[in-house]
Amino acid sequence: MTAIQPGMIPCPSCSRPLALPIESVLTGRAIVCAGCGLELTAQREASRDAMDALGNWYEETASARKAAASAQAPDTNPPVATPPAPKPRRRPRR
Ligand SMILES: [Zn+2]
Repeated sequence: MTAIQPGMIPCPSCSRPLALPIESVLTGRAIVCAGCGLELTAQREASRDAMDALGNWYEETASARKAAASAQAPDTNPPVATPPAPKPRRRPRR
């Protein structure tokens, strides 16, 4: 058996391990196989085994990820869209 690491799924066409970012799974973004060029989206039902393994890995790393997220303290400095400040006119140097 080929070792499929967490976050990776075997390509249904060529069985090549494909990197499956969590973000792509959650957003349903299409993933293109580097081996055969097959374009596939994360089908939770079709790849249940992979999704289970991915889910387990996601849960195991959830605490660490949450800690990392809280360490950044997003509440203190939320990424709000700041209105464009009026640019001061630069006087050309003589
Ligand atoms: Zn493939």
